[in-house]
Amino acid sequence: MDNIMVISGAGDMLMDIGIWDAIVRFQSLAYILAALLFILALAGLSKQKTAQRGNVLGMIGMALALVATIVVAVAQSEQVALGTIAIILGTIAIGACIGVWKALRVKMTGMPELVAMLHSFVGAAAVLVGFNSFLMDPGFPSYDNAFHMGEVGLAVFIGAVTFTGSIVAYLKLSAKMSGKPLTLPGRNLINLALVVACVALIAWFVNTVGIEEGLVPLSILTAVSLVLGAHLVLAIGGGDMPVVVSMLNSYSGWAAAMAGFTLGNDLLIITGALVGSSGAYLSYIMCQGMNRSFASVILGGFGGGTPAAAGGGSEEMGEYTEATPQEVAERLKAAKRVVIAPGYGMAVAQAQYPVADLTRKLIDRGVDVKFAIHPVAGRMPGHMNVLLAEAKVPYDNVFEMDEVNDDFGDVDVVLVVGANDTVNPAAETEPSSPIAGMPVMHVWEAGTVVVSKRSMGNAGYAGVQNPLFFNENTDMLLGDAKDSVEAIIAAL
Ligand code: NDP
Repeated sequence: MDNIMVISGAGDMLMDIGIWDAIVRFQSLAYILAALLFILALAGLSKQKTAQRGNVLGMIGMALALVATIVVAVAQSEQVALGTIAIILGTIAIGACIGVWKALRVKMTGMPELVAMLHSFVGAAAVLVGFNSFLMDPGFPSYDNAFHMGEVGLAVFIGAVTFTGSIVAYLKLSAKMSGKPLTLPGRNLINLALVVACVALIAWFVNTVGIEEGLVPLSILTAVSLVLGAHLVLAIGGGDMPVVVSMLNSYSGWAAAMAGFTLGNDLLIITGALVGSSGAYLSYIMCQGMNRSFASVILGGFGGGTPAAAGGGSEEMGEYTEATPQEVAERLKAAKRVVIAPGYGMAVAQAQYPVADLTRKLIDRGVDVKFAIHPVAGRMPGHMNVLLAEAKVPYDNVFEMDEVNDDFGDVDVVLVVGANDTVNPAAETEPSSPIAGMPVMHVWEAGTVVVSKRSMGNAGYAGVQNPLFFNENTDMLLGDAKDSVEAIIAAL
C-alpha cells in the first residue's frame, strides 16, 4: 500500500514537473515573441506610414508579455492562486482605468507633460522593485549576492534620478514651474560630486550584510539620487527641454532594464534596453538638430532664455506690417511654390485641420505645397508629424528641415503657422541669444513670409523676440491660427 502511494505521489510530482516545464517553455516563447514584436513596433514607429501598425504590434507584444508574466506569477505563488490572480487583475484594472481616463482627457498640447509624468512612474517603480528585492534577499557575503546587491543599487540610483528628473520636467513643461535654468555656481561640480557619492554608496551597500546594515547606504543612495535627478533637470533651460524629455525617456528604459535584472525578468531587460537605447539615440538626434553637444545638455545650464534675461518677448525691433486673410489668400493664389512651417501654435489652435484643407485647395489650384518640419517644433519629438498625419496631410508633402532648408530662396510664400523659435534668425545672428547655434528654418529667404500668431506681445518657448517679424518681406497675420487659416480658405 505504501509503495502504491509513493508511486502515485511520484506520478503527481512528475505531472507537476511536466506542467511547470510547459509553463516555463510558454513563458520563454511568449517573451521571445513579445521582444520581437517590440522590435517590429520600434521599426514601424520610424515612419509615419507604418506608425499605426507599429503601435498595434507593440500593444500585442505587451499583452502577450503581461499574460505570460501573470501565468508564471500565479504558478509560482505559494498562496491561494485565485487571490494572487485577483490582486494582479485588480491592480491592472485600476491602472488601466486611470491610464484610459488620462489619455482621453489629455490634449495634444499636454502630451509632453503626460509623457514626463509617466516616465516618473517608471523611475518610482524601479526604486520600489529595488527596495523590495533587497528586503526579500538582503546581503550576505557571497559573490552571487554581491552581484544582486549591485543590481539593486543601480536600479535604485537610475530609478530615483528618473523619478525626480521627470517630475521637474513635468512641472516645467506644464508651466507649473519657471522654465528658467537653475544655474548654481559650480553646478557641474555639484553633479559630479553627487554621481561620485552615489557610486561610493553603491559600493558600500554591496558590502553590507543583512537588512539593517544595508538599509543605511540604500536610503542615503536614494536621497542623493533624488537630489541629483531634480538638479540635473532644474539646470536645463527652456530651449533644451526637448532633449530632456527624450533623455528621461532613455533613463526610464535603463531603470526598467535594471528592475528586470533585480526581478530576473529577461523581457523587462530587453524592453528596458530597447527603450533606453532608442531614447538615447533620439536624444542624440535632437542634440544634433539643436546643435548642442550631448554632454552639455546633460550637464545642464543651456537654453536659459527668459523674457527678462533675453530681451523680452515684447522688445521693440521696429515696424511690422500686418496682412488681412484676404491679402494672404491673394498671395497664395498667385504663388507657384508655397511652404508651410508649422509650430507649437498650430497645436494650441488645433489648426491642423484647416491647414490640411488649405493645402488640398492650393494643390488643386496647381500650387506646389510643402511642409517644413523642424526637429524640435512643438513640444515633443514628432509633434507636428502627428498633427499633420491626424489631419490626413499626404506624407509626400511633409519634409524635414534639412531637406528643404536650402531651397527657401525659390519659394514664393512661406506660411508660418504658430512657429517662432524654430524660424528665429537670431539663432544664427545673435551669439548671445539663448537659442544661438540652434539650426533654424531659413524662411526669411522666401519671397514673402506670412506669420500667423495671436499677438506681437508673446515670444516663443525660449522667451526671445523674433527679428523675422520685423523684416520687410514679412507680414503678420494676427489672431488664432485656426480662425486665420479658415478665413484664408473662405477668401480663396
Ligand atoms: P514656439 O513655442 O517657439 O512658439 C509658438 C508660437 O505659437 C508663438 O509665436 C505663439 O505666439 C504662437 N501661438 C500660440 N498659440 C497660438 C494660437 N492659438 N494661434 C496662433 N499662434 C499661436 O514654437 P516652435 O514650434 O517654433 O518652437 C518649439 C519650441 O519649444 C522650441 O524652443 C523647442 O526647443 C521647445 N520645446 C520643444 C520640445 C519638443 O520636443 N519639440 C519640448 C519642449 C520644448 P502667440 O502666443 O502670440 O500666439
